[in-house]
Amino acid sequence: MKKYAVRNINLCTKDCLCLFVCSTGATDTENSIIDVDKCIGCGACAEACPSGAISMVPAEYPAQQEKTETVTDMLNAMAASKAIQEKMALQMAEGAGTDEFYRLMKAVAASERLLGADIMREAGYMLPQSDNAKAKLKEWIDDPELKGFPKEKAEKLLELL
Ligand code: SF4
Ligand code: SF4
Repeated sequence: MKKYAVRNINLCTKDCLCLFVCSTGATDTENSIIDVDKCIGCGACAEACPSGAISMVPAEYPAQQEKTETVTDMLNAMAASKAIQEKMALQMAEGAGTDEFYRLMKAVAASERLLGADIMREAGYMLPQSDNAKAKLKEWIDDPELKGFPKEKAEKLLELL
């Protein structure tokens, strides 16, 4: 399988071993982004890098596996139950008699939201968490030119969120 080297700038300590071992000069760029046109995927840079800053990634990713309806239904049911539990925790936080209980319930609500988000990701949905992402999704839903966009699923997702 054809692979490319990708450098994580945040981890790079600039000791330049990757420049030394790369036979094509792909690692030696002005902007620190490894040049995929020159990279032959040998992996020498990733092996040499002492910071773990370089990863080898496939040139092409396999298509996402289709999930059966049963699995999707289960994931949706679990996500819905997490949403209910989050709501309950928030209601309990509102009526909390002590600061400790308030903070505990807010933490439970945050934890339920994270679990719900993980489940939605596993279900294969994009997760529009921010207002910007939601606005973008809405824009795509409203765009009649966007052929093949799963409009109904996107609407359902926005409704659930
Ligand atoms: S070897 Fe690793 S740490 Fe050194 S310059 Fe290359 S990417 Fe950065
Ligand atoms: S994988 Fe090989 S060719 Fe590609 S950047 Fe690393 S050392 Fe150079």
